[in-house]
Amino acid sequence: MEAGKVINLMCLLKKYPNGLRKKSALVSVSDSLGVYANKKLMDSIDLIIQYWTMGEISEEQSKGLLSAIKNGTGLVGCHGGIGDSFRNNTEYQYMVGGQWVTHPGGKINYSVQISDKEDPVTKGVSDFEIGNTEQYYMHIDPNVKVLAITTFSGENDNWIKGAVMPVVWKKYHDKGRVFYLSIGHNPEDFDHPAVWTMLTRGIDWASRSKYEKRELKLSPIYSPQ
Ligand SMILES: [Zn+2]
Repeated sequence: MEAGKVINLMCLLKKYPNGLRKKSALVSVSDSLGVYANKKLMDSIDLIIQYWTMGEISEEQSKGLLSAIKNGTGLVGCHGGIGDSFRNNTEYQYMVGGQWVTHPGGKINYSVQISDKEDPVTKGVSDFEIGNTEQYYMHIDPNVKVLAITTFSGENDNWIKGAVMPVVWKKYHDKGRVFYLSIGHNPEDFDHPAVWTMLTRGIDWASRSKYEKRELKLSPIYSPQ
């Protein structure tokens, strides 16, 4: 795990549990994947905010996590916190809806376009620029609802010039809602108002899987002719 990512975790924990507590949420913080094997705990929670880059998850932990989400617990994460965890676990990747593969050029400046202006997560959020951070290039599940995108300039790795990549998406995994945002290498990335707005709205949305009707979320990228 990179040092920067640990800082991100701390940043997210420092900022959001207080926000959740203000909304009367009961928040439990753990630095071990062992919690995923605690069935009693997993059955009692509405939302998991994970920040765990790479690493390995045991079969028991993976089963606990996957079955909680399938039963309606929401999952939220940013950057490598859920988008590059447990590289050898394809069932996990099937749940998240995308997997990091590279970030050409390392820390760069890039722009993000809101591709879905109607969704409650992105409503009223304008396109924005973000600086000195990683532009994630990911392998994407076609059954995600993409909310924001970025386009690769080709300045780094010219063969990907013009490639359009999801930055924010939502999806279901059985009954559970999954929300992902690929920005977040630096703690200060979360200070960007657009990033923070989408993340906190995504947290609100994902935490309500068990209480709200299922939305039709599939937006397949590929369709029959
Ligand atoms: Zn990073």
